[in-house]
This record gives sequence, structure tokens and C-alpha cells, in this order.
Amino acid sequence: MAAQTLAEAGATVHVYDAMASVGRKFLLAGRGGLNLTHSEPMPRFVERFGARSKQVADWLEVLTPEQLRDWAHGLGIQTFVGTSGRVFPIDMKAAPLLRAWMHRLRSAGVQFHMRHRWTGEMDRAAGSEARALCFSTPAGPVKVQADAVILALGGASWARLGSDGAWVPWLQARGVETALLQPANCGFDVHWTPLFAERFAGQPFKSVAIEASDSRGNVFSRRKGEFVATATGIEGSLIYAASALLRDEIATHGSAEVRVDLLPDRSVQQVREQVLHPRGSRSIGSHLQSRLGLDGIKRAVLHEVLDKEGMHDAEKLAATIKSLPLRLVAPRPIDEAISSAGGVRLEALDDGLMARIDPGVFCAGEMLDWEAPTGGYLLTASMASGVVAARGTLAWAAQREASNQEKGDEPYPRH
Ligand SMILES: Cc1cc2nc3c(=O)[nH]c(=O)nc-3n(C[C@H](O)[C@H](O)[C@H](O)COP(=O)(O)OP(=O)(O)OC[C@H]3O[C@@H](n4cnc5c(N)ncnc54)[C@H](O)[C@@H]3O)c2cc1C
Repeated sequence: MAAQTLAEAGATVHVYDAMASVGRKFLLAGRGGLNLTHSEPMPRFVERFGARSKQVADWLEVLTPEQLRDWAHGLGIQTFVGTSGRVFPIDMKAAPLLRAWMHRLRSAGVQFHMRHRWTGEMDRAAGSEARALCFSTPAGPVKVQADAVILALGGASWARLGSDGAWVPWLQARGVETALLQPANCGFDVHWTPLFAERFAGQPFKSVAIEASDSRGNVFSRRKGEFVATATGIEGSLIYAASALLRDEIATHGSAEVRVDLLPDRSVQQVREQVLHPRGSRSIGSHLQSRLGLDGIKRAVLHEVLDKEGMHDAEKLAATIKSLPLRLVAPRPIDEAISSAGGVRLEALDDGLMARIDPGVFCAGEMLDWEAPTGGYLLTASMASGVVAARGTLAWAAQREASNQEKGDEPYPRH
């Protein structure tokens, strides 16, 4: 999006990427239908960015969710609003959109250089204001000069798709302040018994609700949805939604608790009545199945938190069905996460996303220090920040050209 904005303004744009083809993570997002953005009202939309709402709201002024949809339509890709308000391309694929976008960028003169891995250098060339960037390529090291640089290197999840977070120490060494990259929209480890892990890994907890709170009084309010048991714990959209609070609580206290309502459509009283109903010679398991429709994984997870005595205590059992405490002991590694929190601190950048300490170097996308839940917020904010960084670059270049002309220097070529 930065390249598009620059090229449309007449700049010469070169895009360098470490991978063999562009937009690998964008294509991966297509596997889940490519949730481009969200249709909810703007005040609600910006709230999703938590502590960074104010800054991200500024970015979204230059590329609103509505404008993002129009942009896709302009590339011949129609979109629709799903029942949850999320916006997807009609065919729920990323490849046709990416293809059309690449065609437009190439037609606008953007030149792509794949398998060019930037190695961290971008000092000013001797006697010049231009930057000398070094790339490692299959043909050996390559040096190029650029008047301005926009870094959009991503976070550190799914490193095999290109964004590996290797840039963090490079920017730190230049004095650009960064916050620790951490998993966002991630799963968590739970100490399942080996029997549960073996039998239920990969199975969903369907039609449940979760809630959580942390020791600082932050609350993740009760929300319905589903998640999946894994061999090591839990993952899935409902858990991702609460993951920032849970991750931060684990970092502070070593563990976090999420409360699961296994039957969110029944009241405590209704569940209690059914549990207390005489069960005759039936086992507790078949009693819960026939009276309450609890499926295998829901019955089994009760055994994970209640001992034998607890399972036979009807009051306790009913209360646990409605509010089952799951202790989470660690977030899954960042490489498995949907996105990354942390990155280049927004305080280290000006409003045009230029590094205060390193004029001419701009940053955009997930490598910036913001986070958001899933729902199309990640792509929308990444792309909007690309437009902001490109506009910042154009404004900075124009200003520099004007001051060079004032000094009587040769006009600067606009690369
Ligand atoms: C499974 C999955 C599903 C997702 N689904 C959605 C979704 O439906 N909706 C949504 O909004 N978001 C989704 N996301 C998140 C979204 O894809 C990212 O937030 C978004 O791609 C970030 O864009 P970016 O350009 O900042 O970084 P990236 O897309 O990560 O791109 C960074 C680029 O920088 C390149 N690079 C990194 N280091 C170097 C280097 N040293 N030299 C050269 N090149 C380098 C990489 O090769 C890569 O191409 C999903 C993520 C995952 C993992």
C-alpha cells in the first residue's frame, strides 16, 4: 500500500522482499477467507486497538475500512459483510486480489526484487544524502541507493513466510526504540492429563462462552464462540480474542485463568436441576449427556478440573459446568501466533511514521508497536499505516527538495 501511494504520486519505487514471491502471509490469510476489514462503526473499530486506539485512528483517517473495500472493488474484487460484520472478498480468496494488485503496481512502475534479504545496513553513502542498503541475494550481496526507505518487515509470527523479526536488533542499534515482540492472537498451554491430550487434541469446544479477568482489574467480558483443544492446550478464535489479557497476566503472574461456560444457553438453575435429577444406575457421564447434551470433550474436561469427589458433588458439578476454570500456563510461541504485539515504538516515530532519530527511514505495518484482535483489523491497520508512511515520505522528500533548492543545490531526484 505504501508502494502504491508513492507510485501514484510519481515517485520511483523499488520493493525488496526476502521471499521468492510477494505477500506470502497475505496469501496465508486467504486460507481463512481473507478477512479484509470490519463493517462496525468507526468508534467501535478504533477501540479494538486498545492503548494505541488514538494513533491508529489517525492512520484510519487516510484509509478507512470503507475505502479499503472500495480499493478491493477497484481491483475487480467484490466484497461482502459476513454475519459477524467481518468483510471478505466474495470468493474468500487472497490470490485473485493479490494478482490484480500486483498488476496495478507493476503498471504504475513499481519494480519488485524478490529473494533480496535486507541485512540491516542503510547508512548514508559517502558524500551523498542517499542511503546505501545491503541485501543478500542468491547471486551474492547487492548494494542499492535510495533517497528514502520504508521498512514494512512484519512481526515475528510464521517466520517461514518471511517475517522473522530479525530486524529488531538492527533498528535498536540505530537507536530506534522497540517493544518486545510477543505473540498476539495466540493459543495457550494448559497442563492437560496425557489421556485428555491424546483423546481430544484437535477437537472443538462448540457453543461455549468464556470470560477472564486479570489481577489489575481488566476484564474480558463473557463472549460466546468456540475454540479447539490441542495436544498442549487451547487455540481458536474465541481464545485469540482474550489472548492479550491472558498473555499479559501470565507474564506478570506465571499463569492466567479463563472461565468456560460449557452450556451458555442454559441458566445456572436449569443446569443445576438437570444435574440433580435422579440418575438411577447410569454413570455420571451418560447422565450429563442425556440430561444436558454434554458431548465427549465437554464431559472429559470436567474430569480435568474436578476430582472424583467433585464429580459426585452435584452442586459443585453444576457450578463447574457453568464456570469451568482453566489454568493457562504459557502462551504458544510467537512463530505460531496469528500476529505479533510489540515492535517499533510509535513514540520513536513522527506522525508520518519516520524514525525521529533516523530521518528518511519510515516504518509501517505489523512491525509497529500495536496489536488488535482478529476481525480484519490487522490488515486494515497495516495497510493504512503504509499509506501514512508513504505520505510522510513524500512530504519529507518535498521539504528536503525545497530546502536544497533554497541552498542552491541541484534538485534531488525523486526515488
Ligand atoms: C494464519 C494467519 C491468518 C491471518 N488472517 C488474517 C485475516 O484474515 N485478516 C487480517 O486482517 N489479518 C490476518 N492475518 C494477519 C495479517 O496477515 C498480517 O497482520 C499482515 O500480513 C501484516 O502485514 P505486513 O506487511 O506488516 O507484514 P507481513 O505480511 O508479515 O510482510 C512482511 C514482509 O517483509 C519481508 N521481510 C521481512 N524481513 C525482511 C528482510 N530482512 N529483508 C527483506 N524482506 C523482509 C517478508 O518476507 C514479508 O514479505 C493473518 C495472519 C496469519 C498468520
